[in-house]
Amino acid sequence: ISVWEKLTEAPEDAILGVTVAYNKDPNPVKLNLGVGAYRTDEGKPLVLEVVRQAEARLVADRSRYKEYLPIVGLAAFNKLSKELAFGADHPAVVANRITTVQGLSGTGSLRVGAEFMGQHYHTPIIYVPVPTWGNHNKIFPKAGLKVQSYRYYDPATRGLNFTGMMEDLKAAPDGAIILLHVCAHNPTGVDPLPEQWDAIRQLIRAKGQFPFFDSAYQGFASGDLDADAYALRSFAADGGELALAQSYAKNMGLYGERVGALSMVCATAAAAKLVEGQLKLVIRPMYSSPPLHGAAIVATVLSEEKLLHDWKAELKGMADRIIEMRHKLYDALLQRGTPGDWTHILKQIGMFTFTGLTKPQVDFMREKYHVYMTGDGRISMAGLSTATVPHLVNAIDDAVR
Ligand code: PMP
Repeated sequence: ISVWEKLTEAPEDAILGVTVAYNKDPNPVKLNLGVGAYRTDEGKPLVLEVVRQAEARLVADRSRYKEYLPIVGLAAFNKLSKELAFGADHPAVVANRITTVQGLSGTGSLRVGAEFMGQHYHTPIIYVPVPTWGNHNKIFPKAGLKVQSYRYYDPATRGLNFTGMMEDLKAAPDGAIILLHVCAHNPTGVDPLPEQWDAIRQLIRAKGQFPFFDSAYQGFASGDLDADAYALRSFAADGGELALAQSYAKNMGLYGERVGALSMVCATAAAAKLVEGQLKLVIRPMYSSPPLHGAAIVATVLSEEKLLHDWKAELKGMADRIIEMRHKLYDALLQRGTPGDWTHILKQIGMFTFTGLTKPQVDFMREKYHVYMTGDGRISMAGLSTATVPHLVNAIDDAVR
């Protein structure tokens, strides 16, 4: 008899569980649009050429060891990550008022940031958009933050509920933490326009609220790293403080390497130093220090002009393929005469389309067509290819009629 026998059976993760179900499906026509990982037009995972080159160099270099990194991670990686997110000549970077520590991809960086906020911030309440990436609702309570929500997505327009968002931020307490997706909002693919961002920023600053940015898709939305960082950089430029969790999972295709960073933009360089000291106290008992390999890959790519240039081209290639899939899917639905307005497929940004398909329709498509997506009707455009568009259109058409 085990001491664990009285445990209840744990449910499958809402997102990763889709892949578990997909893997069990023996039908060869099956299509996985659940998980947010890039696939080529041949449906294959992709290791970027620049990553292969960086890795080859790292392996060949006999002067490299596998020693522990410092608690805060690889110094060159942290510096370059900060510059990638904010821009090397950004006033907050130049003023040295940002501290950046390496984290375990986006999730780990969010968790360390949340833990720090839970311990040291005066108002441990965080507002997240409805809907948001499901893990946000699990990460923040673990760090002692109370999770509340603000309106974000409008099902009627399949766009942004800007009025609702502003009303809810206004009604939220002064000083509350506000979680914002930097770009390519997951799961909706709906982002505020630059002028809407400006209004959001002014409101958040007027209320003394604390912006906590999640950047999982820089460069993946538009194909341009700088354009995708607009919201983040404007908040950092107004002199106010903020947190940023960065992930290299999607934009450098380093999913399993778990490479990311947490940056705390502070009002002064002195505050940034104090914050870094406390972040070390969060990290040390959690996992001691971060892994070396992925950070070394990123630092190699970002520090060499040729590799950086080639990375941007590969990144643009991935973003473009996703955008092309939006057009192929939209055109095919139109041609088929599938009932409904599908223009949101073209308007939404980034890896996902929030289709508006209902749970029963999602279940129907899984049962009859072996098409897998999350229960909220989110499909990964990166999981779609020229060859699989017709099958998806058949499934959607049958589901909505
Ligand atoms: N935030 C958002 C919004 C995401 O979509 C993801 C990836 N699905 C993450 C954070 C973190 O991912 P990872 O831990 O793999 O970097």
